[in-house]
Amino acid sequence: MPDIIQLLPDNIANQIAAGEVIQRPGSAVKELLENAVDAGATEIRLFVQDAGKALIQVVDNGKGMSETDARMAFERHATSKIRNIDDLFHIRTMGFRGEALASIAAVAQVELRTRRAEDEMGVCVEIENSRVIRQEPVAMATGTSICMKNLFFNVPARRNFLKSNPSEMRHIVDEFTRVALAFPAIFFSLSSNGQEMMHLEKGSLKQRAVQILGNSYASKLVSVQENTDYLNIYGFVGKPETAKKTRGDQYFFVNNRFIRSAYLNHAIMSAFTDMIPRDAFPLYTLFIDLDPQQVDVNVHPTKQEIKFEDEKIVYAFVQAAVKHALAQFSITPTLDFDLDPNIQRLDAISKPVSDEKKAEVTSSSLYKTFTQKNQAHLIEPTNKSELRHWKDFYEGPADKKTGYAAGGSASGAGSVSGVGSPGDSASSGDGATSGGSGAAGESWMTATPNRIMPIENAPLQQLLATYIVTPTNRSFILIHQQAAHERILYERYKEASIGQHIPSQKSLFPVTLTLGAPDAILLTELLPDLQPLGYSIEPFGKDSFIIQGTPGDTSQGNEKVAMESLLEQYKNFTSEIRFSRREKLIRSLARQGSIKAGTLLTEREMRTLVDGLFACAQHNVTPGGDPTYIEFKKDYVEKLFGR
Ligand code: ADP
Ligand code: MG
Repeated sequence: MPDIIQLLPDNIANQIAAGEVIQRPGSAVKELLENAVDAGATEIRLFVQDAGKALIQVVDNGKGMSETDARMAFERHATSKIRNIDDLFHIRTMGFRGEALASIAAVAQVELRTRRAEDEMGVCVEIENSRVIRQEPVAMATGTSICMKNLFFNVPARRNFLKSNPSEMRHIVDEFTRVALAFPAIFFSLSSNGQEMMHLEKGSLKQRAVQILGNSYASKLVSVQENTDYLNIYGFVGKPETAKKTRGDQYFFVNNRFIRSAYLNHAIMSAFTDMIPRDAFPLYTLFIDLDPQQVDVNVHPTKQEIKFEDEKIVYAFVQAAVKHALAQFSITPTLDFDLDPNIQRLDAISKPVSDEKKAEVTSSSLYKTFTQKNQAHLIEPTNKSELRHWKDFYEGPADKKTGYAAGGSASGAGSVSGVGSPGDSASSGDGATSGGSGAAGESWMTATPNRIMPIENAPLQQLLATYIVTPTNRSFILIHQQAAHERILYERYKEASIGQHIPSQKSLFPVTLTLGAPDAILLTELLPDLQPLGYSIEPFGKDSFIIQGTPGDTSQGNEKVAMESLLEQYKNFTSEIRFSRREKLIRSLARQGSIKAGTLLTEREMRTLVDGLFACAQHNVTPGGDPTYIEFKKDYVEKLFGR
């Protein structure tokens, strides 16, 4: 038998390795932008065509490369940034693994032009399938331009995996935004298909943040700034009113590197406890700078995850810093200042001041610096009950948890509320059934009368400004007004998108809407689909739009807020690949436009709602699958009474 193991040729090995680093156009954008930052550029321009699938080009005015380096740069593990493993723990650059250019050269056609200040001429190198196919001198300004064309031209399977242009463009904008936020002293621009979409002048961090988030945020950001010997934290959190229903603008940087950390995100969320609704996401752009020795940045191929030497300290610090910021700004008179119990229990936090402890921990410089300079963790707990008004303010009087149980005995109330809560409806199929699929199946297949119908002109009673109770031909039902309205709107929009369009009502005073650049790009994509739904919106200069008209039956006056929250909703769905863009838009509009729980309704409004719901093709669930009503059949209610 012959031996069977072979070494893979370099270009194939590179293609395989590229899979880790370059998954999509956005990942190449990230790598190229970071290289330009590492090269000390003060101006960086990104050009893409066809959402990066046809072309990605980054032009910088950084330090450039020598002729030899220009060729070397494309070798795997070729880097000027580290020389040995120790260097990894002193790293101040974005790159260090020496893989990006090698990966890019393995999966795209690349042209590099570069010149150092000290060289008279620059060099142009062209590479395909990891091989230099052309090299010649060029006259050019100092800096580097890297062009990559036809990403994955030689790996069709991966090219086929790329998403639609809008979706890939979003990834690009996200990556661009992250780098641009981290380096406000650098000018950045982004052009797509020949049109400049973002133009970010050099400025302060706050200016950069506002350029990206949109002007309206200028007065809605609270500065965070705490310094210790161990780490510094700075940046912004949004005031509670900017919290959104979707995880939108949350940026966390460690030594200027954008990272994802559910753990640290939790620290920030917890600092906002009781200031924003539980299901809302605060906005933040926070930077932690600390000794690179305290972090391992090499735990993930694209470096979006890192490992802290002592994660708990960082957690406590972040949480305390954000709480401080919010308190200093008098965002709230009564802040809850106790730390997470788990953090509190840490020695470093719970025993900071006693002398013998101090002696014990002096060996830990980390602990020392954390406690010395900044006393952020030594904050007196305050009375939690003072916080209640915040909750009331945001959640309205219809507190889901206490609403049902209010009148009953402990056990009785417990079982009723258990049945009544949509989350539990699946397990309670014996009597009180939700409008969900279980109920539908039952009602159409067995019981008499088998089709549920509300009784015409029967009284309608609104409860807790959230539910409507009304008898039906076989039971009584508790309708959730928001869920029901979402269903109605969904079916209306769905119909309008395929059939008769919803007429647009011209605004008497057309409103100008100015968005952050990423949102502006998103809205531009959605405009054609918004038209049939009655929204007449026109681009109006950079990142601005004029809302000329809205669907006939929407109230005028809050178009702006409605549009903004529509975009927020939409982003909620961006990862849902099973939905088309139009479906996502319709779902977002329905959700965003539905009357909210907590809104008092007139008799007439209730009537319209109930009739509208039962006129729907599918009336028992929201588009997202939650029940629109819960049905209480007599048998079941009798059982509850022990009859
Ligand atoms: P890494 O950034 O991890 O070192 P890359 O493959 O991204 O690896 O780049 C390889 C090397 O090429 C870098 O270390 C740097 O010396 C050089 N290089 C890449 N891009 C640029 C640029 N825009 N300007 C100057 N040098 C660059
Ligand atoms: Mg790099």
